[in-house]
Amino acid sequence: METVFDACESKVRSYCRAFPAVFTRAIGATLFDETGRRYIDFLAGAGTLNYGHNNPRIRSRVMEYLHQEGIIHGLDMYTPAKRDFLQVLNTLILQPRNLDYKVQFPGPTGTNAVEAAMKLARKYTNRTGIVAFTNGYHGMTAGSLAATGNEYHRKSPGCMAGNVTFMPYDGYFGPGVDTITYLERFINDASSGLDLPAAVLLETVQGEGGVNVAGFDWLRRLEALCRRHQILLIVDDIQAGCGRTGTFFSFTPAGIVPDIVTLSKSIGAYGLPLSLVLMKPELDCWEPGEHNGTFRGNNLAFVAAVEAFRLYWSDHRFNLSIGHKGHVLHRRLQTIARESESFGVVARGRGMFAGLVFDRCPKAARLISRAAFERGLILETCGGQDHVVKFLPPLTIEENLLEEGLDITAQAVREVLERLGRNGPESLVDSEGEGAAA
Ligand code: PMP
Repeated sequence: METVFDACESKVRSYCRAFPAVFTRAIGATLFDETGRRYIDFLAGAGTLNYGHNNPRIRSRVMEYLHQEGIIHGLDMYTPAKRDFLQVLNTLILQPRNLDYKVQFPGPTGTNAVEAAMKLARKYTNRTGIVAFTNGYHGMTAGSLAATGNEYHRKSPGCMAGNVTFMPYDGYFGPGVDTITYLERFINDASSGLDLPAAVLLETVQGEGGVNVAGFDWLRRLEALCRRHQILLIVDDIQAGCGRTGTFFSFTPAGIVPDIVTLSKSIGAYGLPLSLVLMKPELDCWEPGEHNGTFRGNNLAFVAAVEAFRLYWSDHRFNLSIGHKGHVLHRRLQTIARESESFGVVARGRGMFAGLVFDRCPKAARLISRAAFERGLILETCGGQDHVVKFLPPLTIEENLLEEGLDITAQAVREVLERLGRNGPESLVDSEGEGAAA
């Protein structure tokens, strides 16, 4: 039967294809559809719901603000909500980490932040080139799309390369190849074809690109390379930030300090759209309104964010809890990978950002996502061939729900690999990706 969605909504829709239920209600790490069926959510709005759906502690502050008739939309005008946000971001997040950044509010989505960051780097350095990395994902608008590796997204007619050069990410050629030396050779050689770029743009853990984790040493060497050549270092922490990898910013354990950081997704704390560009103060060469927009600074998101900063980032308890649950997650995924050794399955990730990689049988990933959904678990795929099952549970998930979701994962993996194994090796290749990444 054709639904109103089929009839009225553009074919561009994506996640609803993989999870074709009509969801009505959600709390914490669980979603309910209109038949009353419960699902455990290991996708969490693609990393937007790190504090869970309708977090009751954040909700009461949001409700209070609504009842007070607080400003919801005010362009980028001054409000107490914005003042609190800037103050608390400074005192609870930046200062304790010895970070000194000015804050820009671009439009509300991640891609807006990336666009602004690229533009700022180009303006500040008066150079045009940006170096991005294989399998990177930075958004769907012209500038950020040009820095996104995946051809599925970049093949839209009219999409231009836009002065972005792709270089191999950490581990791209396997463990033995040093991709920093490779990059530096290009930069040092005036005949390499690569002009000195304005910035290097990267994720410390590539989310949509397949949960590829950069080593801390690689990150440090990349930072040193940038410093040597006066190239700005932009870390896109839109998916890996806000606690996902175990610390508020994904880059702090590596000991690096990016020149520019982009944040979005869970910065709005309650699933509310908000994104930020953090820049070292000396880089703030914008003219007033030069990067403008109607929806810059979402006051309801400011209120939710401040509550989340106070609740979760005032001390180290949340870090410890993410560390503990991350450990549970990785231990279970390692076991699943070991049990599926004959299919070459690998588990990887950092903190509560993990992936099960099906290099040798790419199509298994989407089949596992489907089998998990049938059992009441929302589990997305990512990677160039859609060959990685991605785990992004809310960071606040109860441990029993985490275990239950992992039990379902183990069953789904077992069922799919058994089925594929029975059908012979040729059934293992040929992925059927739908490119749902956001
Ligand atoms: N950068 C990264 C690292 C992302 O993961 C995403 C979204 N998946 C974006 C940028 C783009 O964000 P948005 O979809 O909100 O534009």
